[in-house]
This record gives sequence, structure tokens and C-alpha cells, in this order.
Amino acid sequence: MSDTIFHKIIRREIPADIVYEDEHLIAFRDIAPQAPVHVLFVPKTPIATLNDVQPSQAEVVGKLTVAAADYAKREGFAEDGYRVVINCNANAGQTVFQLHLHLLAGAPLGRFGTPK
Ligand code: AMP
Repeated sequence: MSDTIFHKIIRREIPADIVYEDEHLIAFRDIAPQAPVHVLFVPKTPIATLNDVQPSQAEVVGKLTVAAADYAKREGFAEDGYRVVINCNANAGQTVFQLHLHLLAGAPLGRFGTPK
């Protein structure tokens, strides 16, 4: 199995504030939140980046987005709104090379995507 900090969380080798888990994915609070709600949705299948998702694995990305939307509905902020982000490689600032979706919510969010 690939070994990133997220795989260690999946294997319960390091602690995390887990808010959801099923056979396909795990979701836990980001250790350095960028919004009042900042949860990471991580597939259990080892996939380093969005570039590495094969056409046969498209469902993996679909499950992350559906799990994030379900969480937003359960937690009561779906109607107020939220943002989902997948960083891919250096220019997006990806630091953990296991695919993950950021869910950001809980306040009006600033715009994004401005080059540094
Ligand atoms: P990215 O920059 O898209 O690769 O996002 C990686 C995210 O993982 C960052 O927002 C980090 O704050 C977060 N992170 C790193 N280590 C942990 C950890 N042990 N528990 C929870 N979140 C983490």
C-alpha cells in the first residue's frame, strides 16, 4: 500500500478527527483549517493525484463529491453553500500525494485562483 500521512490515518496509525467513513473513503477534519468547516475526503484506493485517476476509477471521484455533499446536508450548511477543491501537483500546492477533496464551509469564502 502507498504510504502517505493519509494512509496512516486510514490504517489508524495516527489520530485524526474522523467525521465519516465507509468502505470506499474516509473524511476527517483538516489539521490546519482554512475555513470554519474544513474536512478532507480521501479515497481508500491509493491514487496519488487527480492526474492518476483512470477512466475506470471515475466513480472514486464521484463518491468523494457525493460524500461531501451528503456531509454538507447532514451538517446543515448545504443551502448556505460551500466549496470543494482538489489540488493537483505543485502549482496548486498539493502537499499530500494521496488524492483528496477539501470541503470548505461555515462562512462566506473569498475568491480563489489568483496567481501568486
Ligand atoms: P493539499 O495541499 O491539497 O495536499 O492538502 C493537504 C492538507 O492536508 C492540508 O490542508 C493539511 O493541513 C492537511 N493535513 C496534513 N496533515 C494532516 C493530518 N495529520 N490531519 C489532518 N489534516 C492534515
